[in-house]
Amino acid sequence: MATVPEAKHSTVALIDKHHEATADEPHRDHLGASMLGHKCERYLWLSFRWAFREQIPGRIRRLFRRGHNEEASIITDLRAIGCVVRDRMADGRQYRVELAPHVAGSLDAIIDGGVPEAPKTRHVAEFKTHSRKSFDDLVANGVAKSKPLHHVQMQAYMHGMDIDRALYVAVCKDDDRLHVERVERDRAVAEKYIERGARIALAERMPPGISDDPSWYECKFCPARDMCHGSRKTTEINCRTCAHSTPSGDGQWRCARWGDETIPSDAQRIGCGSHVFHPDLVPWQLHDSGIEWVALWEIDGAMVANGEADANVYSSREILGEADAA
Ligand code: SF4
Ligand code: SF4
Repeated sequence: MATVPEAKHSTVALIDKHHEATADEPHRDHLGASMLGHKCERYLWLSFRWAFREQIPGRIRRLFRRGHNEEASIITDLRAIGCVVRDRMADGRQYRVELAPHVAGSLDAIIDGGVPEAPKTRHVAEFKTHSRKSFDDLVANGVAKSKPLHHVQMQAYMHGMDIDRALYVAVCKDDDRLHVERVERDRAVAEKYIERGARIALAERMPPGISDDPSWYECKFCPARDMCHGSRKTTEINCRTCAHSTPSGDGQWRCARWGDETIPSDAQRIGCGSHVFHPDLVPWQLHDSGIEWVALWEIDGAMVANGEADANVYSSREILGEADAA
């Protein structure tokens, strides 16, 4: 009997590699409503400061794609039973809510009517896929208890859109079971978490983390773990990791080095040659350099000036290279 020749490459590995090679999602400009209920203030602050980049394996990227693709099927099914669903604005963009300076979110959809349990009521809609274990817990305990992040997200959307109900539609990926919950608006919850998000976004210094113990279960798989329990050093050079930038109360970022000018989002992503590390994003001791716009770090016993590079001053990129090589 003929045998199938040994494969030169693994199909699965190549597919995952393909997904890993696709461009990373750009950092979000704002603190997203989907994260407002996250327990760790430090995680939220580091995310908003673009201080780390999550390495997402190909399999997980495919998982995200599956969740995203499911949205279209759910909308088709809701429309089939008479729900009036709007998932895009007239210009084709997603519905977006501005909740506070630097805090915003994008809705899956708005349902203008036709939900069988309350046909005349408007709902914000949130669609999620779940593993069997997660789905079973959701069915047993309800979304507020089982998925507090999703609950806070919907409260923020209802608040932002001034709509009193949300429709949470969950799909079990193992067997296609559906769980649908109507969620009532709770202004106090929305306000509490939106205010918290704005406070964290505007904070100049890094807030405490949820635990100092690296083996704490919520820290074990945290994408920011290295910033808390490892090197404590950012490898991201952008305006938000720079000591000269400040998030302002009008939702903008400003740069003290360049006359408090507003920094456009695209420019924030690149930074400039005058970048100086924010003192909470590196583990080194800070000393006074006596030179404007230059910081003096003590790195492994050596004094290193950080700012716009010249004969005696090193740019942040140069320092990262040197420090990494040491
Ligand atoms: S590792 Fe733990 S303390 Fe640090 S950001 Fe993540 S959850 Fe928070
Ligand atoms: S000094 Fe440069 S990197 Fe730093 S905030 Fe200003 S523009 Fe951004």
